[in-house]
Amino acid sequence: MKVDGYYLPADGGLAGAVADAAALFALPAAGVLAAGDLAASLPAGAVFIRNTVTGGAVTTVITEVYFRRESGELGCLTRRDKSAGEDGPAAVQRLVRLNLLALLRKLTGRNPGPWGILRGVRPIKIVHRLLDKALTTAEAAERLTAKYAVQPEKAGLLTDIAARQRPFLHAGEEGRRLVSVYVGVPYCPSRCLYCSFPANVLPADRAEVAAFLNALEADLAGAAALLARHGLAAETVYIGGGTPTSLAADDFANLLELVRRSFVSGETREFTVEAGRPDSLTDGKIAAMAAAGVTRVSVNPQTMQEKTLKLIGRNHTVRDIIVMFRKIRATGIPVVNMDVIAGLPGETAADMAATMDEIVALAPENLTVHTLAIKRGSRLAAGLIDVALPGEEETAAMVAVAADAARRIGLVPYYLYRQKYMTGNLENVGYARTGTECIYNIQIIEERQTVIGVGPAAGTKAVRDVFRLDSCYNPKDVATYIKNIDHYVRRRDALVAALF
Ligand code: SF4
Repeated sequence: MKVDGYYLPADGGLAGAVADAAALFALPAAGVLAAGDLAASLPAGAVFIRNTVTGGAVTTVITEVYFRRESGELGCLTRRDKSAGEDGPAAVQRLVRLNLLALLRKLTGRNPGPWGILRGVRPIKIVHRLLDKALTTAEAAERLTAKYAVQPEKAGLLTDIAARQRPFLHAGEEGRRLVSVYVGVPYCPSRCLYCSFPANVLPADRAEVAAFLNALEADLAGAAALLARHGLAAETVYIGGGTPTSLAADDFANLLELVRRSFVSGETREFTVEAGRPDSLTDGKIAAMAAAGVTRVSVNPQTMQEKTLKLIGRNHTVRDIIVMFRKIRATGIPVVNMDVIAGLPGETAADMAATMDEIVALAPENLTVHTLAIKRGSRLAAGLIDVALPGEEETAAMVAVAADAARRIGLVPYYLYRQKYMTGNLENVGYARTGTECIYNIQIIEERQTVIGVGPAAGTKAVRDVFRLDSCYNPKDVATYIKNIDHYVRRRDALVAALF
């Protein structure tokens, strides 16, 4: 049956958990109705959802979904589930979501994807918590399917990745002392169709860029002093954006050197630069990365289809990507990552297969497969361009093609995250040859290591313990960042000082 909205009883009826489950079916809240008056007041095409919670030794949630049959009569589906070994509001909410997932699947005949009731960005955190409690990966996978209705294949993926990540998650004093440093450069050569990042086209006005670089320098100095003050060391350093390589050659080389001097030490295991777009890279910039000791470069073609590159606003060709990749290789920088996106406008699984053939031939150590997310703030979301997007099944097929290609060149999944508005309710997965995993990616997603953020929009996340993060963010707006840089440095100092 087609359902286009839901009603709740006047008491709210666990509205948050209901909204979470309803969002999986793109069902909006329609309002409240008196339970006793449903036969007369429930509109056709809508449902009324009621939850009853009973306490005691075991929490039980009974969920009823009322709907109007074609005949006009009222129908009702009911599901009852109980918690085992957990109670409190979190257990109740999980049971409501689980009940509703099953009932709405039955009523609508729709399956909202493989992730069950999980909607969070970081599903592997749940696995790590289970592994912390000494569950085996098999037991953790079983929990994910039983308690969160995750499909077994995805549960296996999550637990495999978590097991691969465990050696990178530090505990105790070492865990507190080693941090990651993220430096954000907010400029790009042009703006991609799907971009919602705080990326600005590099200003033609040199003075504007110089003002940004001055502020960034103060920010870097503040972060370096902060690490020194608290005896912290950067395990990973990541220059991202935007596209840092869109800076002029001298500015880029100076920035690399400054970052290297400020943070890279004998304890640094990884130094990454996002060189996302070949239209931003020159031989000189590649040489500067090698000279600064960069260990990982990310080249992000997104697709190896000429027609799509044009459509998404990239001012470069497939050939440019290949040439750039080979030049980076020739410097001996040990790890190269390539990003692709499944679900780009006008593409099919056959396009992804052709893209993957090109990437397999280049054999990068890391491959990141994103699923297109139509985010607010992007030109795509604003509907400024009339493009046909592949459907959910086609996008899932593209993800499968990319995963298969990763396997063919010996890469295994090592990190995963999800976003809102992703086509087909899918995921982003990073693959790596064993021993070349990007440690920064693991730390930023699993949130068990303090990350010091430098640059506009960069976030500092100080880990208090595995359940608590204190965070602050620099402003996205570059002019605000420049104007108030001293304030943002002081705020970050205070946040970190409270912990160490
Ligand atoms: S390269 Fe990345 S940050 Fe820059 S415009 Fe494209 S998507 Fe946005």
